[in-house]
Amino acid sequence: MKLCFARSGVRRTWTVELRPQPGGPVLVCRQCTHGGWPLVGSAARAELLAHLAAHARQDPLPAHLRICRCHERGCRQHPRHRGCNGPIRLLLVRERGGRRWRLSDACTACAAATTQAAVVPETTLAVEATPSRRARDRRRRCPRGPDSQTRVREMLNYLATALPVETEAGARMLALQCALRMNDSAQVRLPYGVLRSLRLQSAADAWRELNETGLLRTRHSDHRAMAVQMLDVGLLTQYPARPDRLRAADWALRAACSARTSNPLLRLATLSLVVRTAHTSDHGVSEAEQVARECGVPATALPSLLEQLVAAKVLMTWQAALDTEEVSWRLGPKGLHPRPAVEDTN
Ligand SMILES: [Zn+2]
Ligand SMILES: [Zn+2]
Ligand SMILES: [Zn+2]
Repeated sequence: MKLCFARSGVRRTWTVELRPQPGGPVLVCRQCTHGGWPLVGSAARAELLAHLAAHARQDPLPAHLRICRCHERGCRQHPRHRGCNGPIRLLLVRERGGRRWRLSDACTACAAATTQAAVVPETTLAVEATPSRRARDRRRRCPRGPDSQTRVREMLNYLATALPVETEAGARMLALQCALRMNDSAQVRLPYGVLRSLRLQSAADAWRELNETGLLRTRHSDHRAMAVQMLDVGLLTQYPARPDRLRAADWALRAACSARTSNPLLRLATLSLVVRTAHTSDHGVSEAEQVARECGVPATALPSLLEQLVAAKVLMTWQAALDTEEVSWRLGPKGLHPRPAVEDTN
């Protein structure tokens, strides 16, 4: 076994800043001595994330040596919290209105308490240790990891941070399907059947939007599928067990379909609420800001969105708690969980 991971000085916190300059924003990295890189347009965010991811890959550390950097820094990032708890994850934090981004190890409890942050989906973590082919194959034969609901929740959450705020709901749903369905080479073959199930108002518009964000490039299409190359491979490099992710992608489709509306925003909002409702219950609660970000709407637009979900019978009721800035809901007859697949109980 290689011991090179255990070298001292691996801090597992990487920060980059976007500095406005006359010619456009420049990426300044605290870890690199380089003066800065100019970034272009709406793909700037993808480039920034790819840069952070490259640092994370360069500084791998085995799971048992990783500690919560948030706690180490005095947990200044979040309110209301009772101490570290849960497995260590990679947390992506957006600060100063998107001008500063930090990627670091954090415990599950600190991660959940941090606003403007997304846990990098679990599927990517093992990439850091670059496991041997044999270990990878063995892992593939007995897939273990989060269930579909958790995978979808984490991916939605990650995309809410990775995609520009103005990204439309239809494009967000499409991005989710692509991110969950990509293979080890970051390629996706998205069958037209899946596209039809997404019921996008204009698939061409959604593809164009995602191409512009730098998240992916559409390559070509044949009569059965659209071929896509994912570009934000830094943080999304998928591992392990693609069948698990395909199952999660199908789960997401079915959960969004339960809304029985062709309005992509209502379908995305339904998905965002269903992934936050335990399958043993019809009650859910979440930070209002988080749900709004996943839907790509300002928090002020959330009440009217939730009212529309009540009208569509996806929700029975909802309530906002002003003191905690949380929103709670009860799912209605059309907001039910898709039946969990047998394999989803691991
Ligand atoms: Zn750097
Ligand atoms: Zn903390
Ligand atoms: Zn912690």
